[in-house]
Amino acid sequence: MTGITGLPSAKLAAHEAAVARLREEYAALPPGAPVRLAKRTSNLFRFPEGAPGREGAPGLKGTPGRGSTPHRGSARGRGSAAGPRTLDVSAFSRVLHIDPRAKIAVVGGMTTYEDLCEATLPHGLMPLVVPQLKTITLGGAVTGLGIESTSLRNGMPHESVTEMEILTGDGRVVTATQDNEHHELFHGFPNSYGTLGYALALTIELEPVRPFVHLRHFRFSNPRDCMTAIGEIAEAGSCDGHRADFTDGTAFSNTELYLTVGAFSDRAPWRSDYTGDKIYYQSVRQVREDFLSISDYLWRWDTDWFWCSRPFGVQKPLIRRLWPRRYRRSDVYRRLVAFDRRYGLTDTLNAHRQRPQREAVIQDVEIPVARGADFLEFFARETGMSPVWLCPLRLRGERSWPLYPLQPGEVYVNFGFWGTVPLPPGRRDGYHNRMIEDEVSALGGHKSLYSTSYYSEQEFRRRYNGAAYEKLKAEYDGQGRLLGLYDKCVRGR
Ligand SMILES: Cc1cc2nc3c(=O)[nH]c(=O)nc-3n(C[C@H](O)[C@H](O)[C@H](O)COP(=O)(O)OP(=O)(O)OC[C@H]3O[C@@H](n4cnc5c(N)ncnc54)[C@H](O)[C@@H]3O)c2cc1C
Repeated sequence: MTGITGLPSAKLAAHEAAVARLREEYAALPPGAPVRLAKRTSNLFRFPEGAPGREGAPGLKGTPGRGSTPHRGSARGRGSAAGPRTLDVSAFSRVLHIDPRAKIAVVGGMTTYEDLCEATLPHGLMPLVVPQLKTITLGGAVTGLGIESTSLRNGMPHESVTEMEILTGDGRVVTATQDNEHHELFHGFPNSYGTLGYALALTIELEPVRPFVHLRHFRFSNPRDCMTAIGEIAEAGSCDGHRADFTDGTAFSNTELYLTVGAFSDRAPWRSDYTGDKIYYQSVRQVREDFLSISDYLWRWDTDWFWCSRPFGVQKPLIRRLWPRRYRRSDVYRRLVAFDRRYGLTDTLNAHRQRPQREAVIQDVEIPVARGADFLEFFARETGMSPVWLCPLRLRGERSWPLYPLQPGEVYVNFGFWGTVPLPPGRRDGYHNRMIEDEVSALGGHKSLYSTSYYSEQEFRRRYNGAAYEKLKAEYDGQGRLLGLYDKCVRGR
């Protein structure tokens, strides 16, 4: 079965023509040449050597933000025979159709959530889960497991996909649904990171929104009380009588933790703005209650990349005023980090000043809520980085997804931490990350694969259902045109 359903005929013809062109482009790639998506943005946190244009390694060139043109990576024209060949997927980076009555959208796989929400919000609708960073794409969030503050209610982005059109590694274009002949691919796609194929178009469910979000920040003085409160919110759907349409949290330390509970609202006695001088994550510890427009709420973390804009100085009032507003975006900061990593600027400076080498510890991990406090205590003791982002989640449906086997019905807390920490004397890069991997396993948790990983091949196979993956790989990419999951996510090829 091929072809995405639900598109009006005029749009269908243009989409089918784009799919046919991409198939031809893919078929023309020299056999054996590694394939990459030509995407202008990425939110991966693996920075392989060189390889401009490669996913995960964008340079500083070009104007940041929306409306910018992707690298035109003609498959025939770029790279050496052995070098990566990039695939022009720009035709799949827009919303194809919205049906407000049925509350569904048909969306190109490389469409950013910023563009997706800009198209759905005027209809009073939004995707069920909107990851916080504007340039995360729908395909990236489905294959790489996005999460946000609706995840306790709505699960993960792939759980509201009803149909996916996929260019498979072996060059077919198939439409996968939860119960057609490609149902195994549909269920194995989340956490496959583009190693089985690329989602070209997806049909997703939408949910109604209200114009504002009414936030309340609840403070806790120890991790156990905070985890207990998450369990109670999961049970009741509210906190202290405040409806939990959105729930996430910020731990500044293990004696200062906040849960932020948001309720849709038709009215706002005032509206805060954190795209100017004020900074959202700082507001969490300054005010008890707040109101944001739905759009400002969805992008509240993007302006300062959570808190990760700090090293660039832009949280200092003077520099902030001088830093153009259009550059207060996560994709701009990420490009700066990519540039720094590529040229080793910070490492060289540290060595020059005889400061200890630092290790990048940039991870999101999911821990069952009952063990969440243990994780926070371990993390404060061994790594000591703050703040830490807390995002509770529970699968929306009854089924587990094979390549990232969370238990249906179980409440997890996603802990996100993004920064660098000094390496103890005599320790090498990977020391902290390995310790975290071990602790996550010991606590019955799971680790996202968008950043560095150190698992052995055997451990990786066990943790991410290697048997199911290999079956899918043989069926949809038998010749291995695309990288394998371990090579991509651990070896970082
Ligand atoms: C600091 C930081 C914070 C983060 N916070 C969050 C968060 O709060 N919420 C959240 O949801 N996620 C978060 N992420 C992770 C992010 O969602 C994942 O990295 C996601 O995979 C990125 O998607 P992207 O669209 O930017 O894709 P890319 O970075 O371009 O690609 C990611 C991977 O997905 C593959 N891929 C991309 N598009 C497709 C497609 N259409 N079909 C198949 N494969 C594809 C690529 O081959 C690649 O392997 C965070 C990451 C970082 C670094």
